[in-house]
Amino acid sequence: MNSPFVLARINAMTGYTPGEQPKGQPVTKLNTNENPYPPSPAVVAAIRDFPFSDLRKYPPPGSDCLIQAATQVYGVPAGRVLAGNGSDELLTMLVRTFAGEGDAIGAMDPTYSLYTVLAEIQGCRYFSVPLRPDFSFPDAETVAEQANEAGCKLFFITRPNAPTGNCYPIESVRRFAQVFQGAVVVDEAYADFASDNCLSLVDELENVLVLRTFSKSYSLAGLRVGLCFAREAIIHALHKVRDSYNVDFIAQRAAAAALLDTAYHAECCAKVKATRATTVSRLRALGFDCPMSESNFLFARPPAGQVARDLLGKLRQSGFLVRWFDIPGIDNRLRISIGSDAEMEAFFAALEGCLK
Ligand code: PMP
Repeated sequence: MNSPFVLARINAMTGYTPGEQPKGQPVTKLNTNENPYPPSPAVVAAIRDFPFSDLRKYPPPGSDCLIQAATQVYGVPAGRVLAGNGSDELLTMLVRTFAGEGDAIGAMDPTYSLYTVLAEIQGCRYFSVPLRPDFSFPDAETVAEQANEAGCKLFFITRPNAPTGNCYPIESVRRFAQVFQGAVVVDEAYADFASDNCLSLVDELENVLVLRTFSKSYSLAGLRVGLCFAREAIIHALHKVRDSYNVDFIAQRAAAAALLDTAYHAECCAKVKATRATTVSRLRALGFDCPMSESNFLFARPPAGQVARDLLGKLRQSGFLVRWFDIPGIDNRLRISIGSDAEMEAFFAALEGCLK
């Protein structure tokens, strides 16, 4: 459906397809990498105790209480953090800040499919570099040189990567950032489930930015909050680009409370990681090719004789949503989010039935 008033490139594009959020029917959602555990009780208290009469006023434009909590928890100066309405909003801001019409934006392939959509909206070219067949990162220096030649001004490195779940060596990210001439965004949406992260690269290299979200490890996908870490000059520029009041008042308070409850956060991450380990073993025992994951999902290829797309449909009929990508090369894999132990128990009971 096109309108003559709309930019030609917007008419021509398809847009991002988010994972399904079913209405009504009782299903177990293992399709959008949400956290199976509730947010911290401190979040519930922050929302309950919020002085609702304050909603008549605009919120602090710079999300002050949240930035303050971030400086405390991450040990970074306030001038190096910016809050966004989910990391998706931060990604939009980054594209608008770093890449002009006709410039290129780069990323690895496969990766988070929103990047290419954001490039299309901005009128940018999209330059993608294939990962190795085992989803590992190719030679970092070569990738950076190719990205320079392609005219990339911005390059997304997703670590842990989605939908593959693996982490690239930090050394590869560092080397890439040393050779690449534009801004490098390390999208760390899933970093809290990994054994290390790239946050300290922001101190080392002036072209590195790191993104975090509250949607996964903090169980707050519905609240829409993310953080961007970068050098002061970059954060200063991003403040000019963001909406004046991009994070709502309640979200600022609730996200700050979530950050400060470090014990609850660590406990939830540990539970997800423990369930991830048992889920990998069980999938492998059923004949799936399931690489180890550093995130809260697995990217598994069904046993010989089974087809991912068919399994997707059968699982759906049994009440379990998982994610399948209609993308050549990865179209015989399912991305399965880690649920609670009880959800995974029920999932395996259904899966075994589907495999028969
Ligand atoms: N980056 C990656 C790699 C993701 O998978 C997601 C979740 N779809 C996001 C960013 C966006 O997260 P948020 O909910 O913070 O917008």
